[in-house]
Amino acid sequence: MKNWEANVRQVVPYTPGEQPNQEDMIKLNTNENPYPPAPGVKEVLERLDTGTLRLYPDPTAGELVSAIAENYGLEKDQVFVGVGSDDVLAMSFLTFFNSGRPILFPDITYSFYDVWAELFRIPYERPALDEQFHIRKEDYFRENGGIIFPNPNAPTGVELPLEDIEEIVARNQDVIVIVDEAYVDFGARSALPLLKKYENLLVVQTFSKSRSLAGMRIGFACGNARLIRYLNDVKYSFNSYTMDRTALAAGTAAVKDQEYFRETCRKIIETREWTKKELRSLGFSFQDSKANFIFASHNVCPAEELFQALRKRHIYVRYFPGGRTENFLRITVGTRKEMEIFIDFLKKYFKDREKKRPE
Ligand SMILES: *Cc1c(COP(=O)(O)O)cnc(C)c1O
Repeated sequence: MKNWEANVRQVVPYTPGEQPNQEDMIKLNTNENPYPPAPGVKEVLERLDTGTLRLYPDPTAGELVSAIAENYGLEKDQVFVGVGSDDVLAMSFLTFFNSGRPILFPDITYSFYDVWAELFRIPYERPALDEQFHIRKEDYFRENGGIIFPNPNAPTGVELPLEDIEEIVARNQDVIVIVDEAYVDFGARSALPLLKKYENLLVVQTFSKSRSLAGMRIGFACGNARLIRYLNDVKYSFNSYTMDRTALAAGTAAVKDQEYFRETCRKIIETREWTKKELRSLGFSFQDSKANFIFASHNVCPAEELFQALRKRHIYVRYFPGGRTENFLRITVGTRKEMEIFIDFLKKYFKDREKKRPE
């Protein structure tokens, strides 16, 4: 080690899912939406006057903030936007988790949380999910420096009932509780209505999954105006212009098309339920998912073997080796057609595997 390295901030980074690019691939590994964004997004991007790109964008992201606030029945000063919810969450860690007491999040959850905690040197503890991969709310009824969990949880897809979330928020009014609702639009209940009652709650959502805009990088947080003001103070101390002109235009168009949004979510939910039935009949088991993915293990075939076999056929799913997730695959719900190809591949794979097995 060089002497200067002693003063380097050394971190183990988050590993995003791979982004292969093959013509025949079926990409079920990063929970993207299989449908294109709302038609209005294409229109505004085609109309975008590139001459305006010489000007800085609106630092308050006013147009997008207003559209989000209006859509969710909130005031403008209750909404904060960022470059994907990863940016919003990172800013929230920096802003709200400062007590020196450990923050709490589940042992199996979004694997960015411990990366941010390490990056910002925030102590943390990870209460274990129960055997069925459910959050035990009682684990969050002790002294802590803040709480964060996704609902539905990732990569399990399990929803925590809103009553349990309220209990966690109510019993922790001296700290900030962040509910990461990246997947809430696929059938879970949002904690947004609780904002009226609790000022220590921050709800974070993203345009990456349910609004088909992962490539545009738009996320947002909703909370009471004081929380949002603190978040903005940190943002303006870091980078005033997080949202560029294209993201502001595309994001605004996406929120305004509620009908398209509801229709794509409905299709994904329908395909998810079909896929669950098929997977069950093939010998997979899983907790009930309310997200746009299914976290499943097979009763005979190891997850890693399946992961590799699928990969060879250019069907990409996510595999988290080691620990309690060792024998699970996280399968994103694609179009009905994609899921049919996926299921057909598995049927054939298991049949061939059975034949090859010595008596
Ligand atoms: C996908 C995801 C995010 C991040 O989404 P962005 O693309 O950065 O908006 C945040 N939290 C969870 C749990 C996710 O799965």
